[in-house]
Amino acid sequence: MSPSPFWSPRVHGLVPYVPGEQPRLANLVKLNTNENPYPPSPRVAAAIQAAVQQGLQLYPDPDSTLLRQAVAAHHGLAADQVFVGNGSDEVLAHAFFAFFQQRGAPLLLPDVTYSFYQVYCGLYGIPMEVVPLADGLRVDVEALVAPAGVEVAGVVIANPNAPTGIGLPLASIERLLQMHPGRVVLVDEAYVDFGGENAVGLVAQYPNLLVVHTLSKSRALAGLRVGVAFGQSPLIDALERVKNSFNSYPLDRLAQAGATAAYEDRAYFDEKRAAVMHSREGLSLQLEDLGFEVLPSQANFVFARHPSHDAAGLAARLRERGVLVRHFRQPRIAQYLRISIGTPQQCDALLQALSEILR
Ligand SMILES: *Cc1c(COP(=O)(O)O)cnc(C)c1O
Repeated sequence: MSPSPFWSPRVHGLVPYVPGEQPRLANLVKLNTNENPYPPSPRVAAAIQAAVQQGLQLYPDPDSTLLRQAVAAHHGLAADQVFVGNGSDEVLAHAFFAFFQQRGAPLLLPDVTYSFYQVYCGLYGIPMEVVPLADGLRVDVEALVAPAGVEVAGVVIANPNAPTGIGLPLASIERLLQMHPGRVVLVDEAYVDFGGENAVGLVAQYPNLLVVHTLSKSRALAGLRVGVAFGQSPLIDALERVKNSFNSYPLDRLAQAGATAAYEDRAYFDEKRAAVMHSREGLSLQLEDLGFEVLPSQANFVFARHPSHDAAGLAARLRERGVLVRHFRQPRIAQYLRISIGTPQQCDALLQALSEILR
């Protein structure tokens, strides 16, 4: 990085997010960024082709009306309780801007979680109150409280958590909502469709709940960039105000058409997420047979460590064999590998490479 006098002063202080590697090499077993190993519903490509025919010379619907209606119908909500954005990362960024800039009050978040939350705090100048996970790398809801005498800006958690995969029951989410009635509790459910309990049904009851979903994982559309937020209409209005102060057209015509088709194909969605969950259970057992300790996952990845092999070394040796997994050089989790659930063939290739390395 070479700073330049052209930069605004605040650019010098930014600490950007580092995404998992997207190598251009073919034939890699890519288990490092939690993409879905299956392609999206065939209806997605058909809808995108139809959208191309309809004409790309025209701007898209700035309100993504048909998509929001399809998402709302899927979850039994009204369209004004649904916000959509260019990937859930953009939705999260707008939510941080809209709800967590509270006159210097800190945002509560766990120490081990999706690392983009800290990046957005840096971008918007939001102080943080980082709360350590409890034993077993579990989120301790009771510990997500303000220090004595301090008002907080809100709470953000991922449920299931990333990169641990461990989920909280809905009762814990309700407890969190009741502990912070005057602030937004943001629940990022990027992985909830792989066996977690989703909090969308609590929206009607809790005006402080914002739930965020993505089409990148369970709907296999990481390349299309679509994310969703659910909340009561005053929260959604705030997100609309931020969005319309930033970009009127975050979702292009292809994204709106493809995402709508993905929500309409519920049978395909259920079939593929069941396949991923099935593979996860098999892979977890086989990793345990190789001596790994595997955290209980409700996501499309497992988080595992080997008692006698260094995680960074394992990741490097897997890479030499064409298998990519994710390793985080971070306190407390530096001995873990995060392994995305692949197809059965990809899981077998991973296990084969690991058993060679461990032999
Ligand atoms: C993948 C992921 C996201 C980002 O999803 P996009 O919609 O692709 O931007 C957000 N939160 C968590 C916890 C994730 O794992």
